[in-house]
Amino acid sequence: RAKAAGRDRWAVFDEAMREEAVRILDLEADLRRAINGDGFVAFYQPIVRLGDRGLIGHEALLRWHHDQRGLLLPNEFIGVGADSGLIEEVDWLLYAQVVEELARGGEGYISVNVSPRHFRSSDFADRLLRMIDRAGADPHRLRIEITEVALLDDVPRALRMLRTLRSHGVLAQLDDFGTGFSALSYLHRFPIECLKIDQSFVAGLVGETQPESVAVVRAIQALAGTLGIHTIGEGVENEAQRTALRELGCTYGQGYLFGHPAERVQVRPLQVVTR
Ligand code: C2E
Ligand code: MG
Ligand code: MG
Ligand code: MG
Repeated sequence: RAKAAGRDRWAVFDEAMREEAVRILDLEADLRRAINGDGFVAFYQPIVRLGDRGLIGHEALLRWHHDQRGLLLPNEFIGVGADSGLIEEVDWLLYAQVVEELARGGEGYISVNVSPRHFRSSDFADRLLRMIDRAGADPHRLRIEITEVALLDDVPRALRMLRTLRSHGVLAQLDDFGTGFSALSYLHRFPIECLKIDQSFVAGLVGETQPESVAVVRAIQALAGTLGIHTIGEGVENEAQRTALRELGCTYGQGYLFGHPAERVQVRPLQVVTR
């Protein structure tokens, strides 16, 4: 009996795996089709000064209006096209929308996310700069967000890439900072404008893990101070987190407290968001 039950469990497991495999194949096929459509859109989330909530820029976040599944978040599909290079193509669709948005005018920067794999492709910087140029956008208003992994797997190449972009006005900020395998000794070599403190630490600033999170944020602030750069706290959801971040020396913030990702950029002056 135990054996039979075991077999049943395996049968259930097999079925679940099969369904997951089919789901991924479906999504990949959908992704391939959707590349030529208009289902991929940029949502924009405000980034503000923690002190007075003044708007300094936005982060562009990828969304997919899927025919049947509704609005999909990156985590629901970004892994799917990873091996095929499809996600890089989707990224270019998003960057194109962002440079068009920049070309329309307005103030503040817009940052875009670049996956490590994408950043590694040798023509990334050139292609991005060409795109900016063609759109007639101001390169100083575009920023890229990369993670530490992207810097460390080929240091000389990453340096070249960042220097090229920077020399044309495109600055870089380090995303999800504190979660990676921070190679502190390398960091000063890279032209980085800003560190984005990962939202897990911001969430931890109030609650049980407070001492640990405070210690991490304090360490990040000390590092940023040494490097002479600013920080952005991610995932700021309440006043307590905003206050705690400010007290620790963080200058900027992003999170639901200031505004959710939305289809349009916010315009100055920023209204207090009560959502
Ligand atoms: P990320 O770059 O760290 O982006 C921040 C994530 O936190 C976003 O999730 C945002 O919606 C979410 N967020 C913002 N404020 C709050 C808050 O107050 N509380 C909480 N709990 N979450 C908040 P999203 O849009 O689902 O994106 C997830 C990740 O997907 C991003 O993390 C980024 O790594 C990646 N991603 C997003 N857009 C793109 C893209 O265009 N290209 C690539 N390659 N990756 C992207
Ligand atoms: Mg980001
Ligand atoms: Mg982030
Ligand atoms: Mg993150």
